[in-house]
Amino acid sequence: MRALARDGGGALGASEQAQLDARTRNTGRRYHTFAARLYNPWAMRAAKYLPDVLRILEERGDPAYRLEQAYLALTRSLIRDWEEATNLPRGLRAALSEGAPAASLELRRVSRATDGTRKYLFLTRDGHAIETVMIPERGRHTVCISTQVGCPMACKFCATGLLGIKRNLKAREISEQVFVVARDIAPERVSNVVVMGMGEPFLNYEQTLVALKVLNDPDGFNLAARHIAASTSGLVDKIRRFADEPEQFHLAISLHNPFEEERREIMPVAARHSIPELMSAARYYVEKTHRKLFFEYTLLAGVNDQERHVEALAELLDHPLYHLNLLRFNWTDTGFSATSKRDAKAFLRYARENGLSATLRPSRGEDIDAACGQLAAKDLRGRPAVPLPS
Ligand code: SAH
Ligand code: SF4
Repeated sequence: MRALARDGGGALGASEQAQLDARTRNTGRRYHTFAARLYNPWAMRAAKYLPDVLRILEERGDPAYRLEQAYLALTRSLIRDWEEATNLPRGLRAALSEGAPAASLELRRVSRATDGTRKYLFLTRDGHAIETVMIPERGRHTVCISTQVGCPMACKFCATGLLGIKRNLKAREISEQVFVVARDIAPERVSNVVVMGMGEPFLNYEQTLVALKVLNDPDGFNLAARHIAASTSGLVDKIRRFADEPEQFHLAISLHNPFEEERREIMPVAARHSIPELMSAARYYVEKTHRKLFFEYTLLAGVNDQERHVEALAELLDHPLYHLNLLRFNWTDTGFSATSKRDAKAFLRYARENGLSATLRPSRGEDIDAACGQLAAKDLRGRPAVPLPS
C-alpha cells in the first residue's frame, strides 16, 4: 500500500513512513495538520472527507496510511460495511463500525419508472429523507444527486423549493449517493454525475466541492471531471469561485427568464443578484475556463415562453460558449403548467433562428416524480422530508 503522499512529495520509503507514523503518534498532532505540512493536498482532502474516521485513527494511534486505506475502501471498493474492508485489522474495523459507520445513508426505497429511470430514497443518520435519481440514456448512466435536505431558494415552480431547508449534506453523504447507485447498476458503470437534485449546491459549496473532487479522484472513484456538472440558481460569487477550481467540472446556471422583474417573480434569488451581475460572473466563467456554459430554462406556460423571451435571450446569451438548455415544466403542485410540446419545439426553433445554440431536453422519470424539480423526498409514510410551513 502506497503511503499518503501521492503527488508532489513523491512516495515515502517504508522506514520514512514508519518514522512519520511514529512522529504522529508521539506528538499526538492532528493528522490533517501533520498531513498539510508533510504530505500533500490529497491527504488533506481525505481528512476533510472522513473527519470521523480520522478522529478514531488519531485516538487509537493508528498509522497515517490507514486513512488512505479507509478512503479507498469507501471510494474505490465502494464498501458499505467496514467488515468488507479486509485489509484493515479486525480491531480497527470494529472501532470504525462503532464510531464512524461506513454507510452514512440508509437506502430505504428504489422506485422504477417505465423509461428505466430509478429514484432512490435515502435516510441520513439523523433521519432526514433525500432523493437521488439515475437516468439511463443511450448507454450512459447519469446520476442526479442532492446537496441539501430541502432548499432555501424557494423558486416558485420547484417542489424542493416548497420544502424549505433542513440542513446541508456532508461531502460523504453527497458522494455516497453515487456509490450506492454504482453498486445498484453494476456491472454497468456510472458515466455522468449532475448536481441537480435537491438543494442549491453553491450554498453548500465546500462540502459539494469535496464530494466532486472525491468522485473525480483517479485513485478512487475515477469519474472524469468533464462528466460531472453542477447547476446553480445563480450565486455569483460562487460561480467565480467554481471557475477558479482546477478541475474541469461543467456548470449550468438556472436562468428561466431574461427579464429582471419577471425572473424575480419566479426566483427570489434574482433579488439578490441582478441579471447583469449574473452575466458578468458567467462571462468570467467562460473566459477563465473556455468551457461551454449551460443556461437552464424551464418553459412555464404563459410565463416565460413567448417570442419576446427568445429575442431577449438572444441579446443576453452573447458568447459562443453559451448554450441554452430548454426543458418543459414537470408537474409540481405550484400552480404553474407546462408549455405544450408543440410550443416548446417552436420556442426551440425560434431560438435557433435567432442564433442561439439551444436544445430541448426530454423529461425523464415523471411517473415516479423523479424529473427535475419534482424531488420532495416524502418519507415512507408519505410525509415530506421537511414539514411544510403552515
Ligand atoms: N438548485 C439547483 C439545481 C437543482 S434543480 C438549481 O436550481 O439550479 C435542476 C433544474 O431543474 C434547475 O434548472 C431548476 O430550476 C429546474 N426545475 C426546478 N423545478 C422544475 C420543474 N418543476 N420543472 C422543470 N424544471 C424544474
Ligand atoms: Fe432550490 Fe434549485 Fe429548486 Fe430553486 S430550483 S428551489 S435553487 S432546488
